[in-house]
Amino acid sequence: MNEKQMIEHIPLPDLTGMQCYNQPFIVAWWSAGITSAIACKMALELYDNVELYYIHIDTAHPDNERFKSDCEKWYGRKIKTLKSRDFKDQFDVIENHGGDAVNTPYGAPCTLHLKKNVRFDFEKLNELTLFNQRTIKGQVWGYEFEAKEINRAIRHLQQYPSTKPLFPLIEKGLTKENCAALLIDAKIELPEMYKLGYSNNNCIGCVKGGMGYWNKIRIDFPKVFERMANLERKKGYSCLKKDHKAFFLDELTPEMGRMNTELIPNCGNICEVEFADIPDKNLESILSGRKSIYEAA
Ligand code: SF4
Repeated sequence: MNEKQMIEHIPLPDLTGMQCYNQPFIVAWWSAGITSAIACKMALELYDNVELYYIHIDTAHPDNERFKSDCEKWYGRKIKTLKSRDFKDQFDVIENHGGDAVNTPYGAPCTLHLKKNVRFDFEKLNELTLFNQRTIKGQVWGYEFEAKEINRAIRHLQQYPSTKPLFPLIEKGLTKENCAALLIDAKIELPEMYKLGYSNNNCIGCVKGGMGYWNKIRIDFPKVFERMANLERKKGYSCLKKDHKAFFLDELTPEMGRMNTELIPNCGNICEVEFADIPDKNLESILSGRKSIYEAA
């Protein structure tokens, strides 16, 4: 057999359906919130090569596992879980991260250690290098079609373009209410924290909560309230402020705060965006549909 005949006899591997190792992929961040759940569903419909990721924190409501499994069935796709190597939850961060502050004007240390650092590590792992050719070509975020959220998305786009952000809910004009309705239509029960009346699915006992939030936590999760109240005193720092001064949970009386008028920011794995409350000049055009969100960069 000559060389040509030998080559002809070598069976060719079947490459049908095989993913190329260095094919760039899109990360869709599933956060157990209702908007991110729909953003992930849309990402799977709109883009190629999407992988779904969740950053787990131990103080997440246990019902999040049920919600995750329901979403996985709906997507026909697994959601991969990442977790901080160093800390279990916000209590662990406050106890052990080396600084005492519970929350600061520049962001909460727990957001940094439990979410952002996990994302930074994940991005580093997926950087194009000699030894790694698996790269991220975009990241999907669940900002919804609502003025404040669009403004945050614009700021995110301007301040962190390297994350190559994608905002499918804003692209398609979907609000949080629309997202809840889509989940209900798909026969997926909303996460327990929403059913209890919380506006997002942050950790139970979120350091960013206001007085009304903490009064509700005291009723729904008394042990969590007590644990945070004790930790605040031990560290000498508080979650709440009153008249620009520290205000400790053991000083909180039941009539203080109004849960339904308090804004608790979603805890995301993006860094704090600056000027989030100052409307960008593109906001009106995006709200009225004259510009796409991506034209605001
Ligand atoms: S949800 Fe609240 S408590 Fe949990 S990491 Fe974010 S800021 Fe900290």
